[in-house]
Amino acid sequence: MKILVPVKRVVDYNVKVRVKADGTGVDIANVKMSMNPFDEIAIEEAVRLKEAGIATEVVAVSAGLANCQETLRTAMALGADRSILIETDAELQPLAVAKLLKAVCVKEQPQVVLCGKQAIDDDANQTGQMLAALMNWPQATFASKVMVAGGKATVTREIDGGLETIEIGLPAVVTTDLRLNEPRYATLPNIMKAKKKPLETLTPAALGVDVAPRLKALKMAEPPKRAGGVLVKDVAELIAKLKNEAKVI
Ligand code: AMP
Repeated sequence: MKILVPVKRVVDYNVKVRVKADGTGVDIANVKMSMNPFDEIAIEEAVRLKEAGIATEVVAVSAGLANCQETLRTAMALGADRSILIETDAELQPLAVAKLLKAVCVKEQPQVVLCGKQAIDDDANQTGQMLAALMNWPQATFASKVMVAGGKATVTREIDGGLETIEIGLPAVVTTDLRLNEPRYATLPNIMKAKKKPLETLTPAALGVDVAPRLKALKMAEPPKRAGGVLVKDVAELIAKLKNEAKVI
């Protein structure tokens, strides 16, 4: 069983991003980039399925600039067997990524696509769902437990107020939530080994996909600064303020 894991190169979660002065986007010049954390969880889960003898191959795929290669090398250091870079300097929106992943699925015929539930840069939470729709495959989103056996996946999903367990036929798309697992660290020997693993480079044109953006961002702005707090001298004053000023009680 082959598992395809889409991994996105995003601004590292520790970086505090700044909106560009002209409001056209976020300034990512000279900021640290890393693998999207939910995709690290997806790689970890795929590698665990391989270690358990359920999967036979884990293929990582990333779409974007040439330096997404670094992200793919990290995926391979964490245990992916090989990877595919879909190289483009075009702005990629989730629908375009889903179309590219569809083309890769048609070529690679994976049984499971294990992707992150959302990318922490655009917070779209769309790509996995769109891919499932384009492929006409079942989907299980927000997975906190995944079991694969007998051509089916049993997935426990994190939903409002609890957990839901569903069974879906394969091939399918599964998207990872935070509590699915704790990803391992790449060891130095594995980082060295990853340098020799195969990395194939494709382009959207070679896959026959038009990646032109369908949505236009009109403006981006920093959230309003929080006003400073005030110290109250006793509970009575606090209640009076909550009642008369904040009007919340
Ligand atoms: P999003 O819909 O943008 O929140 O992304 C959800 C998931 O889709 C991510 O966690 C990745 O697994 C995958 N994905 C999104 N963009 C890319 C990309 N450019 N390359 C590879 N995978 C991606």
